[in-house]
Amino acid sequence: MNIPFLDVRSAYQELREEIDAAIARVVASGHYIKGPELTAFEEAFAAYCEASHCVGVGNGLDALHLALRAMQVGPGDEVIVSSNTFIATWLAVDLVGATPVPVEPDPNTHNLDSNRLEKAITPRTRVILPTHLYGQPADLDPILAIARRHRLLVLEDAAQAHGARYKGQRIGGHGDAVAWSFYPAKNLGAFGDGGAVTTNDTELAERIRLLGNYGSRAKYVNEVRGFNSRLDPIQAAILSVKLRHLDEWNARRAAIAALYFERLKDSAVRRPFVPDWAEPAWHLYVVTTEARDQLAADLASRNIETLVHYPIPPHRQGAYADRGMRDAAMPIAEKLADSILSLPIGPHLSLDQAAEVAAAVSETARRPMKS
Ligand SMILES: *Cc1c(COP(=O)(O)O)cnc(C)c1O
Repeated sequence: MNIPFLDVRSAYQELREEIDAAIARVVASGHYIKGPELTAFEEAFAAYCEASHCVGVGNGLDALHLALRAMQVGPGDEVIVSSNTFIATWLAVDLVGATPVPVEPDPNTHNLDSNRLEKAITPRTRVILPTHLYGQPADLDPILAIARRHRLLVLEDAAQAHGARYKGQRIGGHGDAVAWSFYPAKNLGAFGDGGAVTTNDTELAERIRLLGNYGSRAKYVNEVRGFNSRLDPIQAAILSVKLRHLDEWNARRAAIAALYFERLKDSAVRRPFVPDWAEPAWHLYVVTTEARDQLAADLASRNIETLVHYPIPPHRQGAYADRGMRDAAMPIAEKLADSILSLPIGPHLSLDQAAEVAAAVSETARRPMKS
């Protein structure tokens, strides 16, 4: 039997009637850009995130980019980013002409290490941009305290964290702005591209909306030079349906994570570390082992698909070759990139399948005998 990493079609199969009805409603309505379906989703998602505002945009990269632009970050400015995030986090900083300044993760949580933050702050720093990697919330309180002390803004990359909680509060309203992606494989995924920014700052929300709509509030009146980046009403209608199932689907992910934790406790792989204040969204279940390539190959030979998030950290990508960061500049990110492996997880992976994955991992990666 083949165990895929994530089967995105099953989401449609489970919700087919509701989703077909939502799509048909938009197509029949004649509102193909902005309109009531988008507003309804924005209101529902803001409420879900415990935030005052949600602005739908075209994708997750645009959410980060437009939030930074609305914060008036630009050339000469620096933005602190995670060294082991998806490259979009860095690219958004470059899109506004600012410089991404990477900070290494805590090797236990794989999230931005707040103890390393202050050393990276310079007079040019404007924003701290932590990623909630794998759906594990970053340790926000020290990050927010450091930001306040240095008069910096905090933008969170929550593209993997729909539904996660930090100290009991949903991700979405802690920092000055929170960027979301609705890429199909995310915990809340559209049937195409989509993104949003949530915030409690009314002015910031209005600026992001303005920037994503050609700098225009009233038709053909362009107050600023803007962009075209809006969340499609068809995608918004689909997301409204899926949002109603998000908690249940995240609970299924959590049940798979619990099974992995239990069944892998005597295996040679390191399981994720979850601080007691964290309620992860379990976008990914990432194990760590020096023998990563061997484990991935063994699992592949048993038709179990795994992925690596991410095999090459941004500073070692060709895209950043000109910044002179390639030679062991970020040893923790580099070591993680060589030893992490994401096991199959998702709302449509059965517990039987997860048990099969766990058994295969335990067999192929046995803990060396303790003397
Ligand atoms: C998916 C993702 C993004 C980008 O989202 P898109 O919608 O694909 O542009 C940004 N940051 C992180 C951490 C992501 O996982």
